Amino acid sequence: MPIPGNPLGYTLVYAIESPRGPVLVDAGWNHPDAWLALRDGLGSAGMDVRDVRGVVVTHFHPDHAGLAGQVREESGAWIAMHEADAALVGLMNELQDREHRSFHADMLKRAGADAVEVEEVTAHRPRPPAPPDRELRDGDLVDLPGRELRVIWTPGHTPGHVCLHLRDADRLFTGDHVLPGITPHVGVYPYDRVDVDPLGDFLLSLEKVAELGALETLPAHEWTFPGSAERAMEIHAHHEEKLLSLAALLAEEREPLTIWEIAGRMTWNRPWADLSPQMRGMAAGEAAAHLRTLEVRGVISRTAGSDPVRFALRPESLSP
Ligand SMILES: [Zn+2]
Repeated sequence: MPIPGNPLGYTLVYAIESPRGPVLVDAGWNHPDAWLALRDGLGSAGMDVRDVRGVVVTHFHPDHAGLAGQVREESGAWIAMHEADAALVGLMNELQDREHRSFHADMLKRAGADAVEVEEVTAHRPRPPAPPDRELRDGDLVDLPGRELRVIWTPGHTPGHVCLHLRDADRLFTGDHVLPGITPHVGVYPYDRVDVDPLGDFLLSLEKVAELGALETLPAHEWTFPGSAERAMEIHAHHEEKLLSLAALLAEEREPLTIWEIAGRMTWNRPWADLSPQMRGMAAGEAAAHLRTLEVRGVISRTAGSDPVRFALRPESLSP
């Protein structure tokens, strides 16, 4: 299903047959073109959107959960997602626009963004996804009559991201967790949180998927491929390298740096100066996630009482 105006291009939505109607894995972006693609795609497989039994959302992002609400209206389907993402969706639906804006603005200021950047990043707010009817936990079986579709909780890209293991067909739906050519965004929000370690969670979730063995992989973007375990460990190695180069970067600095300064010195898919304000906000989240993991591992520390928050290599990490 197309994601209009987005470089990712499309979301791969899967329909799993059952005697009591198909269950969808993800539902695509909320846009009329995507809706037509869903209706026609199901039609070409001999299915009707009005017969959909349920939608399992791998995570709450709009290119996955976007149309779940409309499918539910059309067919009476249930929507299921992991309880951790369901809690976030609940919060998003409660938060007023003004509260949402000030929450983001405060977070950006504490990371060292300037006033213009804060203004540009907080200008747009995406529509929150439809709240689910069912909440999933690790190991649950999805309500798919006659088949075995098990929930594998894989936090990292979001706190409640799940992969789905179709045991009777040796297939793994990986959402954004394991993609063949790109790696998903892993960030910390707010950037200066100390109660979570999303990248640490993500690395463990990659190991968890690798332990399932080499399965036919059905991701939410790009293309399907064999060998989920190998690709999962490749992504794992990519982040370990990124952690090493971030520690090396901090080893060269005399003064502690803000998250914004560190993000500006890291390597992205294009120069920092060419990144849009939204992309800088995401890059800072990704930088913050790597910083947090290095901090949890005892490699770096944050300067006590600093505002904006500043990070430096721990002196003992400098010795060989
Ligand atoms: Zn996503």
